Amino acid sequence: MPFSCAHCGEEAAARPRCGACGGFVHYRERDPDRLREAVHGDFAAALPPYEPFPRLGQGDTPTVEIDGFDVTVVGKLESLNPTCSFKDRGSALATATVADEATDLEGVVVASTGNTATSVAAYAARLDVPCAVLVPDGVSTSKLGQAAAHGADLFAVDGSFSDCFRLADAASGDRLLNGTAVYSANPFVASANRTVAFELVDQLGVPDWVTVPVGAGPLLGGTYRGFLDLYEAGLTDSVPGMVCVQARGCHPIVRAFRRDETVTAWTDPVETSVGAIADPLVGYAADGEHTREAVVDSDGTAVALADERFHEWADRLAERHGIYAEPASAGAVAAVEAVPEIEPDDTVAALVTGHGLKEGSETAPTMTRVDEDATAVREALLG
Ligand SMILES: *Cc1c(COP(=O)(O)O)cnc(C)c1O
Ligand SMILES: [Zn+2]
Repeated sequence: MPFSCAHCGEEAAARPRCGACGGFVHYRERDPDRLREAVHGDFAAALPPYEPFPRLGQGDTPTVEIDGFDVTVVGKLESLNPTCSFKDRGSALATATVADEATDLEGVVVASTGNTATSVAAYAARLDVPCAVLVPDGVSTSKLGQAAAHGADLFAVDGSFSDCFRLADAASGDRLLNGTAVYSANPFVASANRTVAFELVDQLGVPDWVTVPVGAGPLLGGTYRGFLDLYEAGLTDSVPGMVCVQARGCHPIVRAFRRDETVTAWTDPVETSVGAIADPLVGYAADGEHTREAVVDSDGTAVALADERFHEWADRLAERHGIYAEPASAGAVAAVEAVPEIEPDDTVAALVTGHGLKEGSETAPTMTRVDEDATAVREALLG
């Protein structure tokens, strides 16, 4: 299978790191026919062919225009995947590698801030693969409830996502895949995210920019590799600038991008309510560095936003645009205002990574009581 090193280009085994130079490994498709099929027919045509490959309806997500900007902004609604986040793309492939008789893998372990847990749990259920998830204390109960419903073994960790990842790595090995959505756990998850690029090219052509909420960044890095596959096969003539969006209270990749330095772990306290992308990268800063390299290579940029921007845009997307996104995902749209390099004729694809139902609301919404008399209902709408 054509796994190869993103650093030296050597063919590689289906492991996270290249045996020759230690670079991260991706699946790369060079056959223009298969790539054409992935763009215009079936996105899975350029994925490694593990079997059985579960299809619960992941991918092929819609794009919708979001008006009110002086540039064209198109939201790609990854929130409409089967478990309501883009993580389903990677989970489908990661669990397929376990279910495939040709591998020695028998189960999957993941660290998660919530969405990977629910996603891998669903695909594991589909393929009858044993699944354990490790989450930091404080993950929303709707995310955990979903994972529990699919029968995953849940483990709570008194620490950050990085602590969960360290434990998942320790638990996994020859028989258990670490299915965590970071490059250093496995080469499958980022490779599956290439399909976002294939679909965007079919839906819009190559956009000028793709804005992506980022923890460690396999969504950004994988999407970029998808655009590169098409470009290098001569099917497109440009790649988009990749925009890395993080929360100000934990932005190790943005910090390094600004200073033009290698990414290091975030050792300050993690001070953000945007949990889905709060990844301090402790113990695997190289993952963040790989994402930073994709940003630089694409002539992209990186922005850190205050928590209020994420929440304000989550509210605005829901109220004005009919899109219910989780706050981390709203950051992809919020970023459009924060990137001065975006020019008026540009097209921006904003990856709306997860659904608003995932986080729910802490407080009950304001309601007006009505009993016998419906006048109040008519008056609320008609004055
Ligand atoms: C996982 C996740 C992200 C971050 O993606 P990575 O590529 O893993 O850094 C962004 N938004 C949501 C909703 C997520 O669940
Ligand atoms: Zn290499």
